[in-house]
Amino acid sequence: MAASDQTGRNHNTGLPATRAGSPWLAQWADRLRRAAIILLAAGFALGGLVIFGEVSFPRALAVFICLVAGALIPWRLRDVEQARGEGVGIAPVETAVVRAIVEGMPDPAVLLDRAGRVLHFNSAAGQLAPALRKNELAQFALRSPEIITALREAIASAEPKRTTYLDHVPVDRWMELIVTPIAVPTAFGGSDYSMLMTFHDQTPLRRVEEMRADFVANASHELRTPLAALSGFIDTLQGPARDDAKARERFLAIMHAQATRMARLIDDLLSLSRVELSAHVRPDTLVDIVVIIRQVADGLEALAHERQVTIEIELPTAPIMIAGDREELLRLFENLIENALKYGASGGRVIVSLVTAAGGDGAPEVRVLVRDFGPGIAPEHLPRLTERFYRVDVGDSRAQGGTGLGLSLVKHILNRHRGRLLIESVPKKGATFTACFPQTKSPASA
Ligand code: ADP
Repeated sequence: MAASDQTGRNHNTGLPATRAGSPWLAQWADRLRRAAIILLAAGFALGGLVIFGEVSFPRALAVFICLVAGALIPWRLRDVEQARGEGVGIAPVETAVVRAIVEGMPDPAVLLDRAGRVLHFNSAAGQLAPALRKNELAQFALRSPEIITALREAIASAEPKRTTYLDHVPVDRWMELIVTPIAVPTAFGGSDYSMLMTFHDQTPLRRVEEMRADFVANASHELRTPLAALSGFIDTLQGPARDDAKARERFLAIMHAQATRMARLIDDLLSLSRVELSAHVRPDTLVDIVVIIRQVADGLEALAHERQVTIEIELPTAPIMIAGDREELLRLFENLIENALKYGASGGRVIVSLVTAAGGDGAPEVRVLVRDFGPGIAPEHLPRLTERFYRVDVGDSRAQGGTGLGLSLVKHILNRHRGRLLIESVPKKGATFTACFPQTKSPASA
């Protein structure tokens, strides 16, 4: 049982013991009030016996004192429980309805008395804090200083308190705690407060917020790099290299490449946000994917020639129709084939092929494979390749005019088309990127 000092503070919790006066005095007053009629009747009876000389006054007094003592002893089960420190007049919160409400709450919820002792908690709270026990102080199980402070403040002020804290077990998660004081009528006409603690997992929200902040930081960094290069060259051209025609030509070529990279980055950022905005709307126009792939491959012939790579196309002659967005599909294949030409150039060839196969759930899929024979990608990078701004080698990507957004865009476009991206690679032997789309019946077979 928690002890209270003269300031009315509970030694264990540091919380006020009751709102006014000490709890045991109030309990005794309650018991005397309940036994008042019996004591009054006994007093009259004993007085009568004394008056009529049947009993001596000291004996009658002794009997009356025994009766009063009997009334003060917690002889009923409920009184025994209260004497154990459940507080004064909290009987109403112990009802089955209150218990059912606490247990039915979807988030972890714990109901406490004013001394911080647990009255009820639901199974979600039990999972959050396995050490929670009824009739024990909540702080034994919920030890975070933020929780204890919020609870103490809510009890002292009778105002709701909100706090967030980092929970480390079983995994790191950001939790929000709201402590709500609830006025509860006591059994004998008074009122007291119970404390309802509800916990909410804020981790997903925090993650989104962190991702947004990371994205803004990365995007600004990526934009600032070519911008810094551009202004550096402008300064040089205006100053020391003003009359150096050879240097001017070289610098202008670098400035052109940097400006192109910036334009590409802005383009990719806009495309990403456009695809994200329409992510929930699946394209419903039927397009011939064979024609789209051919168009992209033809458009990249110049780059292939420059990198001394041959593009081998293995596509069916008949149209293969899928529900898709033409512009987005052009962008998708452009990214995959261009990556193969840039990063896999040392292999000398890139194969673009199309097959139909059964997907993971058995439904027919159209698969477009872009295979190169370059250096490949080490296995530890594979799961992260579609993250925004993730590159295996930042310097190499920048030198190739890359933005680090290409594969992220590919993944988002595929998600919108309800497709998926498979990446396989054997280091030193090349990489295969496979874009899978749910198959739509071609008009001929429909
Ligand atoms: P980037 O604009 O840098 O090309 P991407 O998102 O398209 O960005 O690609 C991310 C990274 O994945 C690249 O920087 C590169 O390191 C790696 N990568 C992509 N395709 C290939 C490939 N075919 N072979 C080897 N590495 C690749």
